[in-house]
Amino acid sequence: MKTLLIAEQRQGKLLDSTYELLGFTGRLNSETVMLLVGSKDSLPVYPGKLYLADVAKYGEYNPDVHKRLILEAVQKENPDLIVFLHSSYGWDLAPRVAAAMKLAQLSEVVDLADGQYELSCLNAKMHRIVAPKTSKAVVTIQAGAFPTAKPAQGTPQVEMLEVSDTASKIEFGGYETTQKEGLDLTRAEVIVSAGRGIGKKENIPIVAALAKALGGELGATRPVVDAGWLDHSHQVGTTGQTVHPKLYVACGISGAIQHLAGMKKSDFIVAINKDKDAPIGAVADVLVIADVVQFVPVLTDRLQK
Ligand code: FAD
Repeated sequence: MKTLLIAEQRQGKLLDSTYELLGFTGRLNSETVMLLVGSKDSLPVYPGKLYLADVAKYGEYNPDVHKRLILEAVQKENPDLIVFLHSSYGWDLAPRVAAAMKLAQLSEVVDLADGQYELSCLNAKMHRIVAPKTSKAVVTIQAGAFPTAKPAQGTPQVEMLEVSDTASKIEFGGYETTQKEGLDLTRAEVIVSAGRGIGKKENIPIVAALAKALGGELGATRPVVDAGWLDHSHQVGTTGQTVHPKLYVACGISGAIQHLAGMKKSDFIVAINKDKDAPIGAVADVLVIADVVQFVPVLTDRLQK
C-alpha cells in the first residue's frame, strides 16, 4: 500500500499537523510519499520522498492549481490513499481531488479498524464506520485523532513539482486574524474553561470567578460559544485556539476529540464532571466527580481564602 500525504505550511512555516499525517500512516504500515506546496526553508523532518512545489510560484492557496499539483504527484506515484489533515486547507482541497479522480472521500477520520474507517459525525456525538467502495480513496483526518510521529531525524529527498496550467478562477487575498485583541489564550499559564455542563449562560460568572481566583483566563467549548454564552475568542479546540497552559481546568466538558485537540498538551489537567466515565477523564490528571455548579463556587471560595 502506498500513501500520498499532503503536508501544509502556513505563511512559510510548516504546520506540526504534518506529523499527525505520519502518525496516521504509521497505523497503516504503508509506504509514504509527501507533497508540500511551500517554501524549501521549512521542510519536515522526514527521511522519505517529498514533492515540493514552490509556493512563490503557485501561491499560498489556490485550489485549482494546488489540485493540479496533487494530481501530478498522483500520476507519478499512483498512491492508494491521498491523505489530508481535516483543516481548512484539507476540507477545501480533498473533495476537489476526489471528484477529479472519481474516488470515494472519507472526511474526518478519527480511527481505523480492520480495513474500515471511523468517522466523526453529528457534531462528534457519534462515530460512523465506513469503507470506501473504490479501490483507492481520499481521506481527511481529524486534528488530534492520531499521534504525532515526528522522526528523530531525516532530510527529505526533495523532487520539485511543476504544472504548466496555472489558470484559476480564484485569487488568494491573504489571511486575516479573527482573534480579538486582549485575549490570547495561547499565552495563558492557567485556563479555566466552561462546557455545556454548566447548564446556562447565567452560570458563566461561576467559572469566570474560578479563573480569576487562579490568575487565569476563561476558555470555552464550542457549544458554549455557539449558544452565545461567550464569544469565539474564548473557544479552545480545532476551530478555536490551541493552548498549552501549565494548568487547564475543564468545567462540565465531555472531552470531545475536537476540544481535546486544542488542550491536551496542557501540563496539568483538572476536569470537573458529574459523569465518571466522561472521555475527558482519559487526559485529566485529576477528575473531580461533582456537579460543577455546586463544586466550583466552594473551590473558588477556598482559593480566595
Ligand atoms: P458536551 O459534550 O455536551 O458535554 C457536557 C459535559 O458536561 C458532559 O460530559 C456531562 O457529563 C457534563 N455535565 C453536565 N452537567 C454537569 C454538571 N451539572 N456538573 C458537571 N458536569 C456536568 N468543540 C470544541 O470545544 N472546540 C472546537 O474547536 C470544536 N470544533 C469542532 C469542529 C467540528 C468540525 C466539529 C464537528 C465539532 C467541533 N467541536 C468543537 C464540538 C465537539 O465535537 C463537541 O460537541 C464539544 O466539544 C462538546 O462540548 P462540551 O464538552 O461543552 O459539551
